[in-house]
Formats: sequence, C-alpha cells, structure tokens
Amino acid sequence: MSMLSITEVEQRMSQVNCAICRSNRFGIDSRTATQDGEWKAICRDCYYTFPVHTNMEFYVNTQPDVPYRLKAIACPKCERYGVTLDFRINMSVRESIYFVTCTHCRHQFPERSSLEAFE
Ligand SMILES: [Zn+2]
Ligand SMILES: [Zn+2]
Repeated sequence: MSMLSITEVEQRMSQVNCAICRSNRFGIDSRTATQDGEWKAICRDCYYTFPVHTNMEFYVNTQPDVPYRLKAIACPKCERYGVTLDFRINMSVRESIYFVTCTHCRHQFPERSSLEAFE
C-alpha cells in the first residue's frame, strides 16, 4: 500500500468545507501522521480539529459493505462506476467523507459516505 503524503492529503481536503466555519483551508498535525494511519486535521481558520483515517486497506478489509459501496460511486468526470478509496475523514459526527480515485480515468474527488449515517 502506498503511503499518502501530508501535502497530498492537505491539498485534497481543500475540496471540502469545514463543518464549523465552511473554510476549505486545512492542515495536518504532522506529529499525528504516524504509521497507524490515524491522523488529525485542523481547520486553519477556526482551529476545529477532526480525524483523518489513512489506513484504508484495513478499513476496506474489515467493513464488508465498503467494497460494494465503492463500486456504486459514479465519477463526475467520466460518469463510469467504480473508485478506489484513498483516505476518509470524519468532518463531524454525522459527516464522513471519502476521498476516492476513479478506477477508469484516475479523476480524484470527495464523496460523502452515507454508510455511516446510521451509526
Ligand atoms: Zn473552520
Ligand atoms: Zn472517471
């Protein structure tokens, strides 16, 4: 599994908005970016922090519904189905967001996960 860089995660998070202030400027606390894959992100405007999960191999292997869900996500660019999960964030208790890559055209985009809406 390829390790995501902090810069890459920060850049891709700019595609979503802070749950509190709607800003899209986030940083990763580099002290938390360790091998276990549980990182901490902070909004650069209101200092709200939230978890970033980067160990997706473990997540996909332990959540049997996830591979099916990934197959059902449509790419906004080529409109074909099927993505790979790069990392996910819990923006708030109710809002989990997947950051995915289209398996066909390699387009990268964020996708709100409804899977955890009922937890
Ligand atoms: Zn904020
Ligand atoms: Zn695509």
